[in-house]
Amino acid sequence: MGNWKMNHTIEEAIDFCEKVKEEGLVRTGKSRGVLLGVAPSFLSLQQVKRHSHGLIVAAQDCHYEDHGAYTSSVSIPMLEEVGVNWSIIGHSERRTYDNETSFVCNRKIKALVEHNFHVVYCVGETLKEYEAGLTKDIVKEQILTGLMNVTKDTISKVVIAYEPVWSIGTGKNASVEIAEDICRYIRSLIEGMFGKVAAGKILILYGGSVKPNNIREYISQEDVDGALVGGASLKSDSFKELLVNCL
Ligand code: PEP
Repeated sequence: MGNWKMNHTIEEAIDFCEKVKEEGLVRTGKSRGVLLGVAPSFLSLQQVKRHSHGLIVAAQDCHYEDHGAYTSSVSIPMLEEVGVNWSIIGHSERRTYDNETSFVCNRKIKALVEHNFHVVYCVGETLKEYEAGLTKDIVKEQILTGLMNVTKDTISKVVIAYEPVWSIGTGKNASVEIAEDICRYIRSLIEGMFGKVAAGKILILYGGSVKPNNIREYISQEDVDGALVGGASLKSDSFKELLVNCL
């Protein structure tokens, strides 16, 4: 899944979608069991959805209330109205710039699954926490709190993205060993909370400086089921290479 962050005008986003369609990337991916998605800005969602031709289209965030006095926020019913039923939650940039806590993420995740949305819930430690050896403690808190009171029935709607903050947009990607170790740990936490079946089924993505030349190493790991990609997902050529290198 590509996270476009605050990139691409509506026109650029439509152009991307048309190129993806011309190249038949969604069909190619599906034929090999690879799902492809993008998370455009709120403003582009409606048009990207119209031109998505099978691409998953996700919001980058949403509010947990259906409506109210929350200036600048976008609600789940607003997303539903434009045909969107996926949302990223808890991206480190939201946690850093907006003070989003795992409690707030939890409210959003519960609201989303109640609305039958799919969620990509991002977790991951900062550089300071990594250097202090706190990665698993941080990820544990984010998983336990973020998924609190999510039911066994609705956990199937949740995808987890492990994104070490120090690797996002920095070119300093985590080693495949770190990615696998933490993704495996996340799966064990899911098993503790929701049971073996749910843990076996849940999709866990790695994110952080994933590029066409390293995606294969990550997704070859047993507990890494896919990737959440920022910079390298912006151009359709690079997006295509990411897919090709997964096949
Ligand atoms: C992200 O935005 O979630 C991300 C992983 O970014 P990048 O691939 O650019 O590091």
